[in-house]
Amino acid sequence: MIVIDAGHGGHDPGAINPVSGTREKDVTLGLARAIRAELVETGRVRVALTRDVDRYLVLQDRYEIARKLKASLFISIHADAAENTEARGGTVYTLSEVASDREAQRLAARENRADIINGVNLGGEDKEVSSILIDLTQRETMGVAASFAKLLIREAQPKMILREKPHKFASFIVLKAPDMPSVLFETGYISNVDDADFLSSAEGQQKVARAVTSAVQAHFARRLARN
Ligand code: ZN
Repeated sequence: MIVIDAGHGGHDPGAINPVSGTREKDVTLGLARAIRAELVETGRVRVALTRDVDRYLVLQDRYEIARKLKASLFISIHADAAENTEARGGTVYTLSEVASDREAQRLAARENRADIINGVNLGGEDKEVSSILIDLTQRETMGVAASFAKLLIREAQPKMILREKPHKFASFIVLKAPDMPSVLFETGYISNVDDADFLSSAEGQQKVARAVTSAVQAHFARRLARN
Protein backbone atom coordinates (compact mmCIF):
# COMPACT_ATOMS: atom_id res chain seq x y z
CA MET A 1 0.00 0.00 0.00
CA ILE A 2 1.36 3.36 -1.04
CA VAL A 3 -0.20 6.61 0.03
CA ILE A 4 0.20 9.72 -2.11
CA ASP A 5 -0.45 13.01 -0.37
CA ALA A 6 -1.47 16.01 -2.48
CA GLY A 7 -0.12 18.96 -0.50
CA HIS A 8 -2.39 21.81 0.66
CA GLY A 9 -6.06 22.07 -0.43
CA GLY A 10 -9.27 23.86 0.49
CA HIS A 11 -8.62 27.25 2.09
CA ASP A 12 -4.86 26.61 1.92
CA PRO A 13 -3.81 27.17 -1.72
CA GLY A 14 -0.08 26.68 -1.07
CA ALA A 15 2.22 28.66 -3.34
CA ILE A 16 0.65 30.78 -6.09
CA ASN A 17 2.27 32.04 -9.28
CA PRO A 18 1.63 35.82 -9.20
CA VAL A 19 1.35 36.06 -13.00
CA SER A 20 -0.55 32.97 -14.11
CA GLY A 21 -2.37 32.38 -10.82
CA THR A 22 -1.34 28.70 -10.89
CA ARG A 23 -2.00 27.31 -7.42
CA GLU A 24 0.12 24.66 -5.72
CA LYS A 25 -2.95 22.85 -4.34
CA ASP A 26 -4.27 22.20 -7.88
CA VAL A 27 -0.90 21.11 -9.20
CA THR A 28 -0.35 18.68 -6.31
CA LEU A 29 -3.80 17.13 -6.78
CA GLY A 30 -3.23 16.69 -10.52
CA LEU A 31 0.16 15.11 -9.85
CA ALA A 32 -1.19 12.82 -7.11
CA ARG A 33 -3.94 11.54 -9.42
CA ALA A 34 -1.45 10.97 -12.26
CA ILE A 35 0.88 9.08 -9.92
CA ARG A 36 -2.00 6.93 -8.66
CA ALA A 37 -3.06 6.07 -12.22
CA GLU A 38 0.48 5.10 -13.19
CA LEU A 39 1.04 3.02 -10.04
CA VAL A 40 -2.31 1.23 -10.36
CA GLU A 41 -1.43 0.33 -13.93
CA THR A 42 1.54 -1.75 -12.74
CA GLY A 43 -0.97 -4.04 -11.01
CA ARG A 44 1.56 -4.61 -8.23
CA VAL A 45 0.67 -2.05 -5.58
CA ARG A 46 -2.38 -0.65 -3.88
CA VAL A 47 -2.62 3.12 -3.85
CA ALA A 48 -4.61 5.63 -1.83
CA LEU A 49 -4.64 9.43 -1.83
CA THR A 50 -4.93 11.47 1.36
CA ARG A 51 -7.28 13.73 -0.58
CA ASP A 52 -8.91 13.32 -3.98
CA VAL A 53 -10.79 16.62 -3.85
CA ASP A 54 -10.01 20.26 -3.10
CA ARG A 55 -10.12 19.75 0.65
CA TYR A 56 -8.06 21.00 3.57
CA LEU A 57 -6.30 18.46 5.78
CA VAL A 58 -4.26 19.08 8.91
CA LEU A 59 -0.67 17.92 8.33
CA GLN A 60 -0.84 15.23 10.98
CA ASP A 61 -4.05 13.79 9.52
CA ARG A 62 -2.18 13.23 6.30
CA TYR A 63 0.28 10.74 7.70
CA GLU A 64 -2.29 9.32 10.12
CA ILE A 65 -4.43 8.35 7.11
CA ALA A 66 -1.42 6.58 5.66
CA ARG A 67 -0.59 4.82 8.94
CA LYS A 68 -4.17 3.57 9.32
CA LEU A 69 -3.91 2.08 5.86
CA LYS A 70 -0.60 0.48 6.92
CA ALA A 71 1.19 2.11 4.02
CA SER A 72 4.71 0.91 3.35
CA LEU A 73 5.54 4.21 1.68
CA PHE A 74 4.19 7.73 2.04
CA ILE A 75 4.89 10.31 -0.65
CA SER A 76 3.85 13.91 -0.08
CA ILE A 77 3.65 16.00 -3.25
CA HIS A 78 4.39 19.73 -3.20
CA ALA A 79 5.72 22.50 -5.41
CA ASP A 80 8.14 25.16 -4.23
CA ALA A 81 8.11 28.94 -4.53
CA ALA A 82 10.91 31.51 -4.52
CA GLU A 83 11.23 35.25 -4.98
CA ASN A 84 13.74 34.55 -7.72
CA THR A 85 11.45 33.51 -10.58
CA GLU A 86 14.43 31.88 -12.34
CA ALA A 87 14.71 29.27 -9.61
CA ARG A 88 13.43 25.93 -10.81
CA GLY A 89 13.74 22.16 -10.47
CA GLY A 90 12.57 19.45 -8.12
CA THR A 91 13.91 18.46 -4.70
CA VAL A 92 13.29 15.34 -2.64
CA TYR A 93 13.19 15.86 1.11
CA THR A 94 13.52 13.31 3.85
CA LEU A 95 13.20 13.87 7.56
CA SER A 96 15.96 15.22 9.70
CA GLU A 97 15.86 17.38 12.80
CA VAL A 98 18.87 19.14 11.34
CA ALA A 99 18.06 20.89 8.07
CA SER A 100 20.65 20.51 5.30
CA ASP A 101 20.73 24.29 4.78
CA ARG A 102 18.88 27.47 5.67
CA GLU A 103 16.71 27.30 2.60
CA ALA A 104 15.58 23.78 3.52
CA GLN A 105 14.82 25.04 7.02
CA ARG A 106 12.79 27.99 5.68
CA LEU A 107 10.85 25.75 3.34
CA ALA A 108 9.98 23.32 6.15
CA ALA A 109 8.82 26.25 8.26
CA ARG A 110 6.61 27.45 5.42
CA GLU A 111 5.10 24.04 4.69
CA ASN A 112 4.56 23.37 8.40
CA ARG A 113 2.72 26.67 8.73
CA ALA A 114 -0.28 25.16 6.91
CA ASP A 115 -1.48 23.98 10.33
CA ILE A 116 -1.16 27.37 11.96
CA ILE A 117 -3.43 28.74 9.23
CA ASN A 118 -6.09 26.41 10.59
CA GLY A 119 -5.40 27.53 14.15
CA VAL A 120 -4.18 24.13 15.27
CA ASN A 121 -1.36 24.08 17.78
CA LEU A 122 0.89 21.11 17.27
CA GLY A 123 3.31 22.13 20.03
CA GLY A 124 2.43 19.34 22.47
CA GLU A 125 2.25 16.66 19.84
CA ASP A 126 5.57 17.73 18.42
CA LYS A 127 7.36 17.02 21.70
CA GLU A 128 5.89 13.56 21.78
CA VAL A 129 7.03 12.92 18.23
CA SER A 130 10.50 14.26 19.05
CA SER A 131 11.01 11.67 21.77
CA ILE A 132 9.98 8.90 19.42
CA LEU A 133 12.47 10.29 16.94
CA ILE A 134 15.35 9.00 19.03
CA ASP A 135 13.95 5.53 18.71
CA LEU A 136 15.74 3.06 16.49
CA THR A 137 12.53 2.45 14.57
CA GLN A 138 12.65 6.02 13.42
CA ARG A 139 16.28 5.71 12.39
CA GLU A 140 15.57 2.64 10.32
CA THR A 141 12.55 4.37 8.78
CA MET A 142 14.63 7.42 7.93
CA GLY A 143 17.24 5.20 6.30
CA VAL A 144 14.62 3.49 4.14
CA ALA A 145 13.14 6.88 3.20
CA ALA A 146 16.58 8.20 2.23
CA SER A 147 17.27 5.19 0.01
CA PHE A 148 13.89 5.68 -1.70
CA ALA A 149 14.72 9.36 -2.17
CA LYS A 150 17.91 8.38 -4.01
CA LEU A 151 15.95 6.04 -6.30
CA LEU A 152 13.37 8.72 -6.96
CA ILE A 153 16.10 11.17 -7.94
CA ARG A 154 17.73 8.57 -10.19
CA GLU A 155 14.41 7.89 -11.98
CA ALA A 156 13.33 11.55 -12.14
CA GLN A 157 16.64 12.92 -13.46
CA PRO A 158 16.09 11.91 -17.12
CA LYS A 159 12.40 12.94 -17.12
CA MET A 160 12.33 16.35 -15.48
CA ILE A 161 14.48 19.15 -14.15
CA LEU A 162 15.87 18.67 -10.66
CA ARG A 163 17.94 21.02 -8.59
CA GLU A 164 21.69 20.69 -8.41
CA LYS A 165 21.59 18.95 -5.04
CA PRO A 166 18.19 17.28 -5.25
CA HIS A 167 18.21 15.35 -1.94
CA LYS A 168 17.76 17.54 1.11
CA PHE A 169 16.86 17.05 4.73
CA ALA A 170 14.48 19.05 6.87
CA SER A 171 12.00 18.74 9.70
CA PHE A 172 8.65 18.48 7.93
CA ILE A 173 5.71 17.60 10.18
CA VAL A 174 4.18 15.53 7.40
CA LEU A 175 7.25 13.23 7.39
CA LYS A 176 7.23 12.49 11.10
CA ALA A 177 5.46 9.12 11.20
CA PRO A 178 8.12 7.09 13.05
CA ASP A 179 7.24 3.75 11.48
CA MET A 180 6.48 4.63 7.86
CA PRO A 181 9.14 5.66 5.32
CA SER A 182 8.11 9.07 4.00
CA VAL A 183 9.43 11.54 1.47
CA LEU A 184 8.31 15.00 0.48
CA PHE A 185 8.71 15.67 -3.23
CA GLU A 186 8.89 19.37 -4.13
CA THR A 187 8.27 18.73 -7.81
CA GLY A 188 9.41 22.13 -9.05
CA TYR A 189 8.75 25.85 -8.60
CA ILE A 190 5.25 27.28 -8.93
CA SER A 191 6.96 30.68 -9.08
CA ASN A 192 8.82 29.68 -12.27
CA VAL A 193 6.77 29.91 -15.48
CA ASP A 194 8.33 26.85 -17.13
CA ASP A 195 8.06 24.67 -14.04
CA ALA A 196 4.46 25.78 -13.42
CA ASP A 197 3.56 24.96 -17.04
CA PHE A 198 5.30 21.59 -16.89
CA LEU A 199 3.67 20.59 -13.61
CA SER A 200 0.21 21.71 -14.77
CA SER A 201 0.37 19.90 -18.12
CA ALA A 202 -0.86 16.35 -18.65
CA GLU A 203 2.50 15.50 -20.22
CA GLY A 204 4.51 16.87 -17.30
CA GLN A 205 2.29 15.16 -14.76
CA GLN A 206 2.73 11.86 -16.56
CA LYS A 207 6.51 12.26 -16.56
CA VAL A 208 6.51 12.86 -12.82
CA ALA A 209 4.14 9.91 -12.36
CA ARG A 210 6.42 7.63 -14.37
CA ALA A 211 9.45 8.69 -12.36
CA VAL A 212 7.67 7.95 -9.07
CA THR A 213 6.38 4.61 -10.37
CA SER A 214 9.80 3.43 -11.57
CA ALA A 215 11.30 4.45 -8.23
CA VAL A 216 8.58 2.58 -6.31
CA GLN A 217 9.14 -0.57 -8.36
CA ALA A 218 12.91 -0.43 -7.90
CA HIS A 219 12.46 0.25 -4.19
CA PHE A 220 10.27 -2.81 -3.55
CA ALA A 221 12.32 -5.05 -5.83
CA ARG A 222 15.38 -4.14 -3.79
CA ARG A 223 13.64 -4.73 -0.48
CA LEU A 224 12.22 -8.09 -1.60
CA ALA A 225 15.67 -9.19 -2.75
CA ARG A 226 17.10 -8.31 0.65
CA ASN A 227 14.53 -10.23 2.69
ZN1 ZN B 1 3.68 22.97 -0.35
